[in-house]
Amino acid sequence: MRNAPTILHLDMDAFFASVEQASKPSLRGKAVVVGGLGPRGVVATASYEARVFGVHSAMPTAQARRLAPHAAYLVPRFSVYRSISERVMALLRDLSPLVEPLSLDEAFVDLEAGGAAWDEESARLTGTRLRARIRAATGLTASVGLAASKMLAKIASEQAKPDGLVLIEPGTERALLGPMPVRTLPGVGPATGDHLRRAGITTVEELAEAGEDELVRLLGKAHGHALYAMALAHDERPVVAEREAKSVSVEDTYDVDIHDRLRVGLEVQRLADRCVRRLRGAGHSGRTIVLKVRRYDFSTLTRSETLRGPTDDPAVVREAAARLLDSVDTTGGVRLLGVGVTGLADYTQEDLFAQAAQTAAPVAEAPEGAAAGTEAEVGPGADAAQPEPEQPTERQWRPGQDVRHTEWGHGWVQGSGLGRVTVRFETPSSPPGRVRTFSGDDPSLEPAEPLPLVSSGGQVSSEPASLPKSWSGKAGGGATSRP
Ligand SMILES: [Mg+2]
Repeated sequence: MRNAPTILHLDMDAFFASVEQASKPSLRGKAVVVGGLGPRGVVATASYEARVFGVHSAMPTAQARRLAPHAAYLVPRFSVYRSISERVMALLRDLSPLVEPLSLDEAFVDLEAGGAAWDEESARLTGTRLRARIRAATGLTASVGLAASKMLAKIASEQAKPDGLVLIEPGTERALLGPMPVRTLPGVGPATGDHLRRAGITTVEELAEAGEDELVRLLGKAHGHALYAMALAHDERPVVAEREAKSVSVEDTYDVDIHDRLRVGLEVQRLADRCVRRLRGAGHSGRTIVLKVRRYDFSTLTRSETLRGPTDDPAVVREAAARLLDSVDTTGGVRLLGVGVTGLADYTQEDLFAQAAQTAAPVAEAPEGAAAGTEAEVGPGADAAQPEPEQPTERQWRPGQDVRHTEWGHGWVQGSGLGRVTVRFETPSSPPGRVRTFSGDDPSLEPAEPLPLVSSGGQVSSEPASLPKSWSGKAGGGATSRP
């Protein structure tokens, strides 16, 4: 392990919710929840104001609504998040060639490799400047952790939240980790945490004291070995650029187009199993599940969903692939199907049991703030992030969506129902706006492109915040697709 705190972990604060608050002045300082709004929807990000009520990412949205009934519930606007993410990642790449994105709003940077920092002082200065640059370029706050290893840098940024910087001095790691709950370590989810607690182990210090043999006995060889090393603050994992490029995927082309929806579903399950066998064979686990569908007319769609942590569990991959398939219209026939896993990890650092349980029947706990838990992104294919198969006759107005009215200008959908749609007319640079209600089919109202957060007076040239035409075009148009 290096002896200077030159690994930086950047994490935007409540990213999706912060973007929505910056875009929608009336929501600033208010509880905002971004996520799937359908019956199976899950919270992607909650604003700090919503977290006060106990709402956190990966919680079923229905449960969030019970806890915070007055919060604003919005669908994710991935095109906006992605374009902001691209700006942030570009700022990171100014510091070093070694930038390893973990999701749209989170990345490791090896400052030493880029010559940006070599000791404590230069690292702190670089981190402070970076936060200021991100603020200027995006209008949003980010937290920075600095340490001599990835694990500690991530723990540091968690402690720094929101809008802060924490540097862990080399040599103090074990003393710092010792009293922390085991859940602080990457790879310790609720189920592993429970398992350890039943064995009388609740802190990192107790993990270290238990010894490697005992941990291997409790958790199996790979997990036990990895966890023991982490308990001793040993983490030699390098920052790896272009991580997302690594993926494992399998696909099949069919001689005759498949029309039967049931059969399509079964093929997807079979491909998911094959993909996991290959993934495991390579000793990997991955965080983003990708489904590829080529239809009878050769149009090709990809949908992706990002999990809270890497998995190599066939049940988890099968279920994610099935959810993604739900959002794809296959009438007319399918000529190719593929399932892939990207965002590969060196070792399985998640909690398989918890994740499977979460997928099957969403669990209520999993406190945010555990180092293993990053903000779950709802892939564009997931739940209500995607409209139901289109019905051209009736227009869909989804909460949070950008609209433009011929007379009132730019606004966003606050709610809709019973043939009516309520719009709040405001922009990122306007004061909080007024609400007006229209008939759902009012011809003077139409969907609009999102507006940029930082006006052209900002440091960064601000091309319109909307980029991709749709989510379908780009491979893995999901939350972690690389900027
Ligand atoms: Mg974040």
